[in-house]
Amino acid sequence: MKACVIEKPLHYKIEDLPIPQPKPDEVLLRVTTAGICTNDVRDYKGSKYTYPRIGGHEYAGIVERLGTDVDTSFFKPGQKVVNYIIEECGMCYSCKHNAENLCDAAESGKVFYNENGISGYMGYAEYVCVKARHLYHYSDSVSNEEIAFTEPLACVINSINKTNIRMGDDVVIIGGGVMGLLHVLCAKKQGAYVIVSETDAKRREIALKMGADKVIDPIHTDPVEEVKKLTGQRGAQVVYNTTAIPTVASQAIEMVAKSGTVNMFSSMHPNDPILVDAGRLHSQEIKVTGTVSPTECSFAQAVDCIEKGIIDVKPLIDKVFDYKDVTEAMEYAARPDTYKVMLKFSD
Ligand SMILES: [Zn+2]
Ligand SMILES: [Zn+2]
Repeated sequence: MKACVIEKPLHYKIEDLPIPQPKPDEVLLRVTTAGICTNDVRDYKGSKYTYPRIGGHEYAGIVERLGTDVDTSFFKPGQKVVNYIIEECGMCYSCKHNAENLCDAAESGKVFYNENGISGYMGYAEYVCVKARHLYHYSDSVSNEEIAFTEPLACVINSINKTNIRMGDDVVIIGGGVMGLLHVLCAKKQGAYVIVSETDAKRREIALKMGADKVIDPIHTDPVEEVKKLTGQRGAQVVYNTTAIPTVASQAIEMVAKSGTVNMFSSMHPNDPILVDAGRLHSQEIKVTGTVSPTECSFAQAVDCIEKGIIDVKPLIDKVFDYKDVTEAMEYAARPDTYKVMLKFSD
């Protein structure tokens, strides 16, 4: 099979590798389409993980072959499926407390560091083996591109689940990229009045088209003051920061209302510590939290939302490249003015 391998930063190579054989509890998938995540672009440019590396954790697949122990009443060759991407151990403290997305073992798995082989999620290949218990069905009518959107949507549903939006709340979403816009779609479904803060004028326009009620230009205005103005000086009940910038994280805390919640949705690059007014957190009962990755439940909810047409991810699909053009696709995805870019491996 062909696979897109990052040999070293900025060097992709299409390599011939043997098709992996499913273990008894695994399923061999034929990959159809795989999304490019910000993490994949970071790996392409050079990350702390080991190389060679095969990225791709946002992939849609078709069941090719079942391992010997897989229940045939659940899966049949030819079915469209998507795979939960965290190799949770099921044994550690986090796994036992309903936080499999924080599994201790997953952090030390070969996904990140594989000194003697290829690291990565392995989705940028024609075939991949996955645990049968991690699979979710889709019906044939859902497109491969939409299925490949499951993981990013599941990350956002995890973020929405862990913050409490009430009908009529003012909600601020900082950043109008793919993840910001997914927050817009989800927050609107929760009954929020949605304010998007985004530096790029074109992106602000798209945020409005996607359902945002108001947009803010944080370059030419003070975003904290603007949020106060739009909320009767109260601030927003929930603020989601989808940007990687520490100063923006500080602003996110400044623009939250009394008893409100701030969620640090994005990882921070660089991860410089920020100053927080702890007295205000105390006297105004403000909650500052974070969310990372999807849970198995938010993954199931993302499948439900895409399958039933509750969340329409199609407008966020920017461009689909043939996998052989992976370098061009990475360069395109790295541009600040693009939305979700995908690689096509098969129909
Ligand atoms: Zn992703
Ligand atoms: Zn675990």
